[in-house]
Amino acid sequence: MRRVGPNSFTEIYFAGCNPGFVETSDGYVMIDSPQQPIDAVRWRERLEEKAPIRYLINTEPHGDHISGNAYFPNVTVVGQVKLQECFERYLLAFGTLDEKRERFKQTDPDSVWLVGHPDYPSSNPPSMTFTETLTLTVGDHRFDIIHMPGHTAPQTSVYVPQEGIVFTGDNVFHKCRSWLQECDPWEWLAALDRIAALDVEWIVPGHGEPCTKAYLKEQAQIIENWVGFIGRQVERGVGPEEILGQPIAVTAQDPYPIGQRLFVHDERLTGLIVHNLHERILTRQAQEPVAS
Ligand SMILES: [Zn+2]
Repeated sequence: MRRVGPNSFTEIYFAGCNPGFVETSDGYVMIDSPQQPIDAVRWRERLEEKAPIRYLINTEPHGDHISGNAYFPNVTVVGQVKLQECFERYLLAFGTLDEKRERFKQTDPDSVWLVGHPDYPSSNPPSMTFTETLTLTVGDHRFDIIHMPGHTAPQTSVYVPQEGIVFTGDNVFHKCRSWLQECDPWEWLAALDRIAALDVEWIVPGHGEPCTKAYLKEQAQIIENWVGFIGRQVERGVGPEEILGQPIAVTAQDPYPIGQRLFVHDERLTGLIVHNLHERILTRQAQEPVAS
């Protein structure tokens, strides 16, 4: 558990995303939920021993940020309106209950009995939504919840001015491989500029250690490297399968190792990035006005 503000903490060593919380004078506000069921129930018990959990804010629809929601059954979940729409679809993509149970038998036996447990019948999707921004005041703290599409379409940052921090979800991967498998890279770059404009001392990334705004340039460079690399192939008329048929200098685009037990997805991720960016660059070129 790492302190990131006077009353703010994040856990950076769980399997899954970095969940966090802020302790206000009127209970806790959580940002994302622990991925592993046993981590989620332990986390909930430790917090509720001291004060109630008022809200759980999801930063994005990827399974490692939302699948733990189920273990906070009485907590109001806040999410961007598109996240509410796609919640169940992304959850299913993360595995059916049977698939999760089998996976945990291998990777996390302590969590097996909690999968599909009758005490947690709902996946607990967002019930409070917003389109562009939502401000919540809880106790003495203000939470500015801001739609910042990029890594995913509903991507959301949670800015807490009194704490001097922002939780960005996976718009920031700090020194671990960036997942560009479904991103709009140009929106992502714009989101990084908006994060840079916030008055914060610490950024809590979706993965990796808390960092400062100094890292945002490096995050942007990784996105630009990938877009440049795929863009040059597009210019030469090379298709995604052909690109993937050749050895790809992944570390020349993104020097960091894949984080948080995700090494089994290393090669698959490269394939997803190539396909996504190839299609997005082609689409963007088709939309550009032709000079007359
Ligand atoms: Zn993600």
